[in-house]
Amino acid sequence: MVAEGQRWVVLKFGGTSVSRRNRWDTIGTLAAKRMAEEHARVLVIVSALSGVTNELTAICAGDDVAARVEALVERHRMFCGELDLDADAVLGERISTLRALGADPRGTTLALDWQAEVLAQGELMSSTLGAAYLRSQGHDFGWCDARDWLDAVSLPNASEWSQRLSVNCQREADAGFGERFSTQPNPLLISQGFIARHRDGSTAVLGRGGSDTSAAYFGCLLKARRVEIWTDVPGMFSANPREVPDARLLTRLDYAEAQEIATTGAKVLHPRSLGPCRHADVPMAILDTERPDLPGTRIDTSAATVPGVKAISRRNGIVLVSMESVGMWQSVGFLADIFERFKRHGLSVDLIGSSETNVTVSLDPSENLVNTNVLEALSADLEQICRVRVIVPCAAITLVGRGMRSLLHKLSGVWATFGKERVHLISQSSNDLNLTFVIDEADADGMLPFLHAELIDSGAMPVYEAQVFGPRWREIQGQLRPKPTPWWKAERERLLQLAEGGTPRYVYHLPTVRERARQLTAIDAIDRRYYAIKANSHPQILKTLVAEGFGLECVSLGELRHVFEVLPKLDPRRVLFTPSFAPHTEYAAAFELGVTVTVDNVEALRRWPEVFRGRSIWLRIDLGYGDGHHEKVTTGGKASKFGLAVARVDEFVDAARDLGVSIVGLHAHLGSGVETRAHWRQMYDELAGFARRIGSVQVLDIGGGLPIPYGQDDEPFDLGDWAEGLAEMKAVHPAFQLVVEPGRFLVAECGVLLASASQVVEKDGVLRVGLDTGMNALIRPALYDAWHEIINLQRLDEATDGVFDVVGPICESSDVFGHRVRLPATTVPGDAMLIADAGAYGYTMASTYNLRALPVEDVIE
Ligand SMILES: *Cc1c(COP(=O)(O)O)cnc(C)c1O
Repeated sequence: MVAEGQRWVVLKFGGTSVSRRNRWDTIGTLAAKRMAEEHARVLVIVSALSGVTNELTAICAGDDVAARVEALVERHRMFCGELDLDADAVLGERISTLRALGADPRGTTLALDWQAEVLAQGELMSSTLGAAYLRSQGHDFGWCDARDWLDAVSLPNASEWSQRLSVNCQREADAGFGERFSTQPNPLLISQGFIARHRDGSTAVLGRGGSDTSAAYFGCLLKARRVEIWTDVPGMFSANPREVPDARLLTRLDYAEAQEIATTGAKVLHPRSLGPCRHADVPMAILDTERPDLPGTRIDTSAATVPGVKAISRRNGIVLVSMESVGMWQSVGFLADIFERFKRHGLSVDLIGSSETNVTVSLDPSENLVNTNVLEALSADLEQICRVRVIVPCAAITLVGRGMRSLLHKLSGVWATFGKERVHLISQSSNDLNLTFVIDEADADGMLPFLHAELIDSGAMPVYEAQVFGPRWREIQGQLRPKPTPWWKAERERLLQLAEGGTPRYVYHLPTVRERARQLTAIDAIDRRYYAIKANSHPQILKTLVAEGFGLECVSLGELRHVFEVLPKLDPRRVLFTPSFAPHTEYAAAFELGVTVTVDNVEALRRWPEVFRGRSIWLRIDLGYGDGHHEKVTTGGKASKFGLAVARVDEFVDAARDLGVSIVGLHAHLGSGVETRAHWRQMYDELAGFARRIGSVQVLDIGGGLPIPYGQDDEPFDLGDWAEGLAEMKAVHPAFQLVVEPGRFLVAECGVLLASASQVVEKDGVLRVGLDTGMNALIRPALYDAWHEIINLQRLDEATDGVFDVVGPICESSDVFGHRVRLPATTVPGDAMLIADAGAYGYTMASTYNLRALPVEDVIE
């Protein structure tokens, strides 16, 4: 049956995976599948039924021993019933052993060897009944005792306790180990996690997380083809999915990265289990028992080393100890004296920061017993040699990934975010794999989703690397809002014809503009809608939106003149003028035109009183939310040039009153897609508060800023949720008219930029497709690192099996539309190419730089 030299695959199943009959069916199926598909022999390592180890631990503490033993016996009997097994025949002997241990005299002194034997019973029972069940289902399973194969090693400094109850095992197999192991007759074998042979021949256990580690030891000793850890989560993620629903599944890691992620946060895999597999170069995989078809996380050395942040984690309950030396500037032995005292109190130090006069260290609660008593004793001890300050509770936020030092330039947003908090300690590991910030625990709340998004936006977390980053958590949970099919797929033929008439060429699809307009019109809470024309001022688009009931929002006299040229009959009351630092003559001209003017500073009123005297105006206020977690979503604050500072509102109101100016509207830019509803509510409440104080205000304008899904896995903006939020705000402040003025949302998706591939060139392993237009036609990628989908329209139906950088013809190194774009490998010069979602801030920002012609513009119905 068993062929010579067949390799082993080790599968490990945890407590929840062995506590239900259907899960055992899965175990049987998976083992049989591995055997059939890989011609491998399969070793299954199991934990105890869930909750059992906790009960055994209580027994080891001498708690209610007899009752607990009987409860465990009953639990296993019941489970045998569920599996249609005869409990006495299958577990009779094990039950006797458990009862005997309960009555063992060694129990009265809680002897360590007795504890190890007690703890081992959980896995012995689960593996025994599992083997019986799997055989009853027709699988050819044998059973073996892990203590016959895994040898505990004694480490020099280890305590008696850890040499019995938290052991490490031998990683070097003696000659013939594999051969001996393989002589066991059944092709499938089951054994126990967590337990090993003590050097005196009795039982030892591996400590918490020990089953993963057992599987890894077996994998290492058997030079297995692979060790698979089957759990109830899909694998390791780029952040804790409970905190960051957009966290990505990490499909491929190397051992060092996986080790770091396991150590700094993810509970999926015990950090100790990586060592043995790494040592023997045995690949590991973390897989989901409920969803076996997901890719899981694969860990091996051949993982192409992709530099970049792979994960961000947060550990709470961190204790910081800051030690100020008293007159011992650079004195010899200061550090030795300090650390000797930590050792004395059994504390292992995690992070360290030091200067000439201060040493600050962190204590991780998962590695230490850090209660108040211990800390007081430590402090008292340290006080003898330095001034001590204990800072609690802190949170450690860690970025993990290969090549951290070469990523620093991409982390400016992360540094900026931390710059707004009180950072107690920054530590960068000497293995170049992690960067940790320690801040107050309260400050860390809600920070991870922002940091995670920031890492992706800046390119520090290269989620486009499909070998490493898998689907998002929300996607796996089926919680993603699907992106609608873009209009240009159905209009391909027409677009190709237009492209033949010459490129570069913008094409705008008016039905898409109407669709977006109507989505906003359907929101009852909004009283008036304006379109910010700087996004796209094409006459047809303006006419379309005005026909849909939108007013127009302009930021310059040029835009105002354009509007009235295109729509001479437009009622000026449907036009807003919201300039920033414009010449005073533009304000005067705007009042002459009869449009609504928004003012955002006192100085203008004072310097040009005659321009404003007796007028009705709107006032733009900067609510001062400069503390958003990301520079790009910060719509106000000290660094922003827009809006009147809150502190000067009264001054403005006085100056306006002196000139007989009536403030009838307030404007503040609220939306940015990332804020929560509560955040909006708070800002709207404040705006309404100002409105009531001023008295004459009728309109509250919350600006634009609605996002669109540029990226392939961006989601459409949740309009429904936004509408509900607006309705709540409106219900609290019904006295005011609610006004919005989006630009991008209305027109971005209606527009594409058509170009023609000019050259395809390989250089140092990088393939580039050149287009006949560049950043002069669409500057967003160069200016904001914006992401636009790029398609070979000619070969829309071909597989995108090539990877190219798509560049323009401008003499600037930033003239790149996209890096690592997937296009058909057959892409050649002359192919018509399409850049999607280019309807907003495309043509309006275009230039003739390098004396390249502006693109043509077409509108289609
Ligand atoms: C640009 C602008 C908008 C529109 O912003 P989008 O992000 O395109 O929605 C709205 N109001 C004012 C005052 C603007 O300057």
